Amino acid sequence: MYDVNSKCADDFINHEEILETLAYADENKENIELIDAIIEKAKKRKGLSHREASILLACPIEEKNQEIYKLAEQIKKDFYGNRIVMFAPLYLSNYCINGCTYCPYHAKNRHIPRKQLSQEDIRREVIALQDMGHKRLALEAGEDPVRNTMDYYLKSIETIYSIKHKNGAIRRVNINIAATTVDNYRLLKEAGIGTYILFQETYHKESYLELHPTGPKHDYNYHTEAMDRAMEGGIDDVGLGVLFGLDKYRYEFAGLLMHAEHLEAAFGVGPHTISVPRLKHADDINPDDFDNGIDDDTFAKIVACIRIAVPYTGMIISTRENQKTRERVLHLGISQISGGSRTSVGGYCEPEPEDEKSEQFDVSDSRTLDEVVRWLMEMDYIPSFCTACYREGRTGDRFMSLCKSGQIQNCCHPNALMTLKEYLMDYASPETKAIGDKLIAKEVLNVPNEKARNIVLENLRLIEQDNRRDFRF
Ligand code: SF4
Ligand code: SF4
Repeated sequence: MYDVNSKCADDFINHEEILETLAYADENKENIELIDAIIEKAKKRKGLSHREASILLACPIEEKNQEIYKLAEQIKKDFYGNRIVMFAPLYLSNYCINGCTYCPYHAKNRHIPRKQLSQEDIRREVIALQDMGHKRLALEAGEDPVRNTMDYYLKSIETIYSIKHKNGAIRRVNINIAATTVDNYRLLKEAGIGTYILFQETYHKESYLELHPTGPKHDYNYHTEAMDRAMEGGIDDVGLGVLFGLDKYRYEFAGLLMHAEHLEAAFGVGPHTISVPRLKHADDINPDDFDNGIDDDTFAKIVACIRIAVPYTGMIISTRENQKTRERVLHLGISQISGGSRTSVGGYCEPEPEDEKSEQFDVSDSRTLDEVVRWLMEMDYIPSFCTACYREGRTGDRFMSLCKSGQIQNCCHPNALMTLKEYLMDYASPETKAIGDKLIAKEVLNVPNEKARNIVLENLRLIEQDNRRDFRF
């Protein structure tokens, strides 16, 4: 039975409830009166239930869809302004004992090179990432209890935070690793991770069991209840995501929102981020073998509907998507993107030879970070390297209450400008720097509070003239 508060995955992601939601959405997808009422409710910026949002997603009426896009854009502007937070993935190991049928790291793939970074390798990768200008990483690894142990992760996190190369520093380490125990989540929290990310892949239990035929990940309930254990272990920033293309997107969308509602109901804090990856080509994986792929229009609609349904949750898009798709969805709700990414183990130091590729998926946007930063600024976005909240202890419900009151904006905008300035001084090409300095000069006038504006101006001067770093609100 559906129960948003239950600790059991079968109850909070209840299959019958999703089927009823989809039927309800089908019945009402052209019910203009109801759609108008839902849009009006969404304008209050308090979010929507999975049932309400599912109606908007199903709605085929062009005029209403335009209203939905417009509202998503407005909510994006109100909560995130024109800032886009930058990050990079760092693959630690592609050893994996699971049998996921959509990922080239599955255990039966005998020809993909298997690699695990040593602490010395990590040092080199992190220095390469710092030299690009990154401050925020997402660690990635397959599941292998013998090689990829909790001790290995803890040591790796310690190594990453300890490296200070020139003016570089990794200031926030997020981690995307297999579902684990409350005790292990507690250890990750103590090691100073930012967000714990775990993609559900699919919320459809029957499909999930087929797509994960072997290995510990086969246990749907253990996987789906991981965020509850993470929160019990003290991690209050968690990141959800599904892999669009594995099952029907409307089912996944409802499941994703039900998961967010469950976390909010059970712990008082919804997800910190939602990622929207789509299935892509990789070593022995052909996306055409999966018949639930979604086109770009549907993808844009999903992004817009998530933005409206959970306004306080950051949305992430990776280099799985190409420049054109990223451009299209940025203004509809995306608040974080990766740039200059390598999805192979050890790929930042030296490119891998053709016959030794260890990538998890083909990167569709292969531009450098400098190119991505410039591209964003040319569209009037402010690339932000801010990591302030986590470092100031603004996580979980503290973070959410600042978000909901809109006060967080007073921090995000100045921090974006100051961290962008650091990037321009230390890593940008002359052309990127010229565009960025102009953008900062214009955007600093948009810091509403005069006292704060003067502090920002002084800090910008100190960054430029005194080589000072790491100012934050
Ligand atoms: S998706 Fe994760 S768990 Fe599954 S095979 Fe790939 S690395 Fe392993
Ligand atoms: S101030 Fe907090 S919410 Fe805003 S960009 Fe920085 S870390 Fe993110």
